[in-house]
Order: sequence, then structure tokens, then C-alpha cells
Amino acid sequence: MDSTEFRKTGKEMVDYIADYIEKIEEREVYPDVEPGYLRPLIPDSAPVEPEKFEDVMKDVERVIMPGVTHWHSPYFFAYFPTGNSFPSFLADMLSDAIGCIGFSWAASPACTEMETVMLDWLGKMINLPKQFLAENEGEGGGVIQGTASEATLMALLAAKMKTIKRLQSENPELTEASILSRLVAYCSDQAHSSVERAGLIGGVKMKKVPSDDRYTARGAALKQALEEDKDAGFIPFFLCATLGTTPSCAFDSLLELGPVCNEENLWMHVDAAYAGSAFICPEFRHLMSGVEYADSFNFNPHKWLLVNFDCSTMWVKRRADLIGAFKIDPVYLQHENQESGLITDYRHWQIPLGRRFRSLKLWFVLRMYGVKGLQEHIRKHVRLSHEFEDLVRQDERFEICAEVILGLVCFRLKGPNRLSEALLKNVNDSRKIHLVPSHLGETFVLRFVICARTTESSHVRNAWDHITKAAANLVIEEASQQQ
Ligand SMILES: *Cc1c(COP(=O)(O)O)cnc(C)c1O
Repeated sequence: MDSTEFRKTGKEMVDYIADYIEKIEEREVYPDVEPGYLRPLIPDSAPVEPEKFEDVMKDVERVIMPGVTHWHSPYFFAYFPTGNSFPSFLADMLSDAIGCIGFSWAASPACTEMETVMLDWLGKMINLPKQFLAENEGEGGGVIQGTASEATLMALLAAKMKTIKRLQSENPELTEASILSRLVAYCSDQAHSSVERAGLIGGVKMKKVPSDDRYTARGAALKQALEEDKDAGFIPFFLCATLGTTPSCAFDSLLELGPVCNEENLWMHVDAAYAGSAFICPEFRHLMSGVEYADSFNFNPHKWLLVNFDCSTMWVKRRADLIGAFKIDPVYLQHENQESGLITDYRHWQIPLGRRFRSLKLWFVLRMYGVKGLQEHIRKHVRLSHEFEDLVRQDERFEICAEVILGLVCFRLKGPNRLSEALLKNVNDSRKIHLVPSHLGETFVLRFVICARTTESSHVRNAWDHITKAAANLVIEEASQQQ
């Protein structure tokens, strides 16, 4: 394909995308395919002769779309949202065209410098304490990771290296192996599975601190775990606190956990993957009180800030902690400016070497929506979740299972779990809307999350109609079984 052809096909692709998004709600949100559906639809091996764009595009509706879960349908209420907006698509096109691998400043100065400035912009938008910013020659700064999982892992690994160095400088007799075998990290029992995984990958024990009756991890519970573990000879070194847990969008008490971590030399990482975007609205910032105690903070603009995957923003108070942990500098990656102190080589901040120009989509989205436009997006989603909550509360067969704070509503049919399990199955089998469940203690709950940028009140009401109809059928079946 040459540039003349690209000018034409590129415009066709833009039209296809605009049509897809515009008419997405006419498609069933969840695909009706069985595992293995795709292989028989295409040849066994790659074509030897080149094919035409038109022929590839024809197969998109035949091969791809039947197997797509439409995350951007206004009838998608599962998981947490993933961002999607036209300015973000446009920026990603440009990023693909520039196609640089920005591992060092010299590998593409704009890629590095835009990222540093965008992380400062975003940090100020959520009112992060100044120590997390890079401006004014601060010691902190931000980086775009691929995912919250990687941010947690980076924080844990950096904390591990820092702890080993500190203990060895206090006591040179200590071997790395003896320290490693005694390190313990902590998270709430409500933390995301990626936190437990960070412990597995990082080769350290990860202990779960029991949350309270509102699913919040509290200072006293952490303290108790620390005392027990220290008495048993362990070395506590890291806590991952969550703001906006996945099962119920609960908020750990940073105001209680933070001082304990600071006193006990634990690195406190904050995982606000979903909820972090809400902090651009002043009325939600009380939920991050205590962030000043944290060593690192992370959220996903690719979840709720209309930026396409992947864009997970992570800030640290002392970038030396990250950079110092795993610095390796082969001669082919060095450049003459690297010791100037003014520049960043992001390869030291992350696990892979390569990285895309992801700050472009932040720049486009922040400029083309403005802080105001993004605040409206968040507020609208929160309003819609409360609208759904009201509908649930008006129906006495149902109950709300956790306080509704942002865009997630946890609800269930009163009575044994099997009723709600059957309800979820009926609702998802109809493919009109899509939800996923969670467990709160022993209780099975349905999670209803406002996800798509285009979800409106009418979609929420239609969804509730589907749910209540499915529930009515269930209640009839249940009654006939009991007779
Ligand atoms: C979604 C989510 C994650 C995982 O996010 P990735 O970016 O996919 O790794 C981690 N923690 C919380 C609280 C989440 O909501």
C-alpha cells in the first residue's frame, strides 16, 4: 500500500469506525459464539500473495464482529469501564505513525518530555501532593505504565530493593537471601488479584489484611498483622492500599494506614485504578485523603478518563527509588545528555525496554475535552449509577449490597445466592446487557457499572427492565418448583 492508497483507505476506515460507534447499540452486547469459532472462518495459513484492503475489510463483519464483546455499547455494564474517545483514536493514529520506541530521552525527546509534562498536568488535575510532581526540579514524577498491574509490581520491586539496601547498610552481615526469605508485603482482602500476583512474581509473601464491615482496610488491622509478623521474625516492607476496590468500590483508609507505613518503613503504594479518574472532581477528593503518606500512586486514565488502553499513570515521590532499583546501562542505550540531571530515561522506570508514544493521547484528550468536559463525563456516570440504585431500592425483591459512591452498584435478589446466580445467568444469556458478579464475603452480588461514554438514562432504565423481567421469570420458576 502506498500513501495515495492510504489516503483513500484511511478515510474509509474512519467512516467504518464512526459507523461502528454510532450504531453500536444495535449490536448484541455479548457475542453468541462457542470457543474455537474463529479458526474455521479463515485459512489455515497466511496468504502468499498480497490481498486487497477491501477484501480484508469484508471479513471484519464476517470473522471479527460476531466474536466481539462490545465494551463501548451503552448496554455494557460489566467489569469497570475502558476509555474510548475520538480524540484518543486520533492521537493513537499519530503515535503509530511516529512509531518511536521512547526508552530514553535521545530515542525521541518529545516522547519523553511530553510524558513528564502530561503526568504533571494530570497530577495537578487530581491535586496530588507536590512531591509527586517533576516540575520545579522536584524529586518526584510520573510515568505511563501499561497497566495498574505493572505499576503495582514496579512499586513492590522497588520497595524490595530499597529494603534490602537499607537493611544491608544497617547490618552488613545480613545476606540478601536471608532478607528475601523474610520479606512480607500486605494488601487488603479486597485488593485486586493483580496485587497478589505482584507478590508471586516478585517472589515475596503477600498477606491479606482483613477489611472492615464496609470493605475498608483500616490501620488497626494492619498494625495487628505487622506485630504478629515481626514477632515471628518477618520483615514487613510494602503495603498496596486500594482506592475503589474491584468487588464493591470501597476505599481503604489512607489516613490510618499511611502513618503506620511511614513509622514502620513500609512503602505505601496506592492502587486507584478505577476511582482515580474521579479525583479530577473536587467533590470526590476526600476519598483520597491521606495520599500524602504514600510513596507511589497509580490510576488508569484508560479506565474512566476517555483515554484508550493502554495508559496507566504512576507517580512516585522519589524517582531515585525506581531508577536506582534496576538500573542497567549498556553502551548501546547510552547517550551524551544522560548525566545532565535534567532528563529522564523512562526505561529505568518500567519492566520492558520499549515503550510507545502514549502521552500523545493524554495530550489530545485533556486538551479537546478540557478538565470541564472530563468532569462532566465523571459526574454523569455517577448520576446514572445513583439513578440505577434508586430503581433497585424501589423494588423490594432486591437489595443494595454496598454504598454507591462512584459508578458501581452492587445489588442482588434478597434470599439465597442461587437466586442471584440464576438471575445473572438469565440476564447475560439474553445478550441485551452484560454484567459480571462479585463476592462480598459469602454473598454473591451482581455488579452494575456505568461504562460506555454514551450511556444515558434511557439505557439504564432499559437495563433495569431486562433485569426485572428476568427476575419475574425466576420467581415464577421458583414458585412452581416449590409446589
Ligand atoms: C482494573 C483494576 C486493576 C487492574 O488493572 P490493569 O490496568 O488491567 O492491570 C487493578 N486494581 C484495581 C483496583 C482495578 O480496578
